[in-house]
Amino acid sequence: MVEPAQISHWHADLPPSARRPALDGEQSADVVIVGAGYTGLWTAYYLSEQSLDLSIVVVEANFVGFGASGRNGGWCSPSLAGIDSWIGTPETRDGGLALQNLMVDAVDEVGRVSQRENLDCDYAKDGQISVAITAAQEKRLRAEYAEYEEEGSGDHVRWLSAEETAQHIKMHGARAALYSADCAALHPAKLVTGLAKLLENRGVRIFEQSRVTDIAPGRIATPDGAVSAGRVVIATEAYSVQTPQLAKRLAPVHSQLIVTEPLSPEIWQEIGLKNRLLFNDGRALVTYGQRTADDRIAFGYRASYHYGSGIQDIFDPDDRSFDVIRDILVSFFPALENAAIDQCWGGALGIARDMKAFVHFDPSSGIGWAGGYTGNGVAASNLAGRTMADLLLDVPSERVATPWVTRSGDPLSAFRHWEPEPLRWIGVQGFRTMLGLTDWITNLSNRRASGR
Ligand SMILES: Cc1cc2nc3c(=O)[nH]c(=O)nc-3n(C[C@H](O)[C@H](O)[C@H](O)COP(=O)(O)OP(=O)(O)OC[C@H]3O[C@@H](n4cnc5c(N)ncnc54)[C@H](O)[C@@H]3O)c2cc1C
Repeated sequence: MVEPAQISHWHADLPPSARRPALDGEQSADVVIVGAGYTGLWTAYYLSEQSLDLSIVVVEANFVGFGASGRNGGWCSPSLAGIDSWIGTPETRDGGLALQNLMVDAVDEVGRVSQRENLDCDYAKDGQISVAITAAQEKRLRAEYAEYEEEGSGDHVRWLSAEETAQHIKMHGARAALYSADCAALHPAKLVTGLAKLLENRGVRIFEQSRVTDIAPGRIATPDGAVSAGRVVIATEAYSVQTPQLAKRLAPVHSQLIVTEPLSPEIWQEIGLKNRLLFNDGRALVTYGQRTADDRIAFGYRASYHYGSGIQDIFDPDDRSFDVIRDILVSFFPALENAAIDQCWGGALGIARDMKAFVHFDPSSGIGWAGGYTGNGVAASNLAGRTMADLLLDVPSERVATPWVTRSGDPLSAFRHWEPEPLRWIGVQGFRTMLGLTDWITNLSNRRASGR
């Protein structure tokens, strides 16, 4: 059995805790939620906020935070998969803009709830900086900045010269940077485990080690038990591929991270990050880094798809791809050349066929499903959970009128599916290769231009 400390630094950083019991026998509830990551637990949180006497059961195959919610980079950001498409389409433009504002608020909402409920998850809203280290990266980030300006982003997003950038972060070869104030850093596992404890104090029943094998209107079942409930919420994101009924909706893609040892004040002096400002460079295949509350750097990169939608639960620390990640980090900050890497891990995120995140609820079957965050799910899952709670309780909020909400059709069959293999592999891997190739060509031309 996989232990929490094996799956990420974030879990290894928490004191060990006893496993919750497995579902055994028949239970009944008003709402049953499959999956104890952020989506499932935020849904339970907002349901319990709005209706104290609602009975809620959460059924988790492994343990709370086993999935991406206990492994991610801790970027609580307003980015949402699909937003450009909604804003760019005349019929959904207004709804897309409303959704974008709700996402900006979701970043704050995670902070508000953490403070109100004493969820100690190292939340710090110090913003995010994307640094251009090549001419092509600068061009890409400038184009992004122009879009923000067009939308009237005010002081939230700023363009920084090389000198201004160095006041925030001393990244080797920095030419300029795009700064956004709307992001927060947090400790992913503290958030997900803290939420679970808070919900249990409110009477929510959470079962671990209980893989749901059958989902039907009004009932879910595991090999040893079942829960009857008027409402069923599917919150299994990338792992949905392991449930045959859901297998074709989302493709799981892996991303990987490393974490350094706690760094000395002298090294921080050279890196220049004075606070918890999130950082990356402007390459096409996304990198993501944060200064943790205990003065390490957690840094992630890569996107790999395994043929047949396979999911890798534990990563071998000797996997050569971690060397690539470390090399990129050291190329940003040469002062890290001799810094020890304390842990390497990875996880799976879900990508929908249309590349759009979704919150779906079908009133006739009583089944809801949210996910498809494409690696931007920390804040998005908060908004998804809040929106799902509104849908389940039939609350006519601004949230339920946004374009990522769909309401007709049984979620087990209504969505556009990924193609069968090998077409799925060619599609997902081809997209990833294209982004990697863009970076490779960019690096090559940069090296040529600088004579290296
Ligand atoms: C390496 C990595 C880095 C990332 N970094 C960021 C970041 O910095 N910022 C950001 O915004 N997003 C990031 N993401 C994405 C973000 O973490 C996810 O979008 C988000 O955590 C999804 O939450 P979830 O609850 O929907 O899914 P998950 O957290 O994956 O939870 C799904 C849960 O369902 C359970 N489950 C699956 N099948 C069953 C079943 N049959 N029965 C019962 N339970 C089941 C799983 O065990 C799991 O616990 C990252 C993702 C990864 C993998």
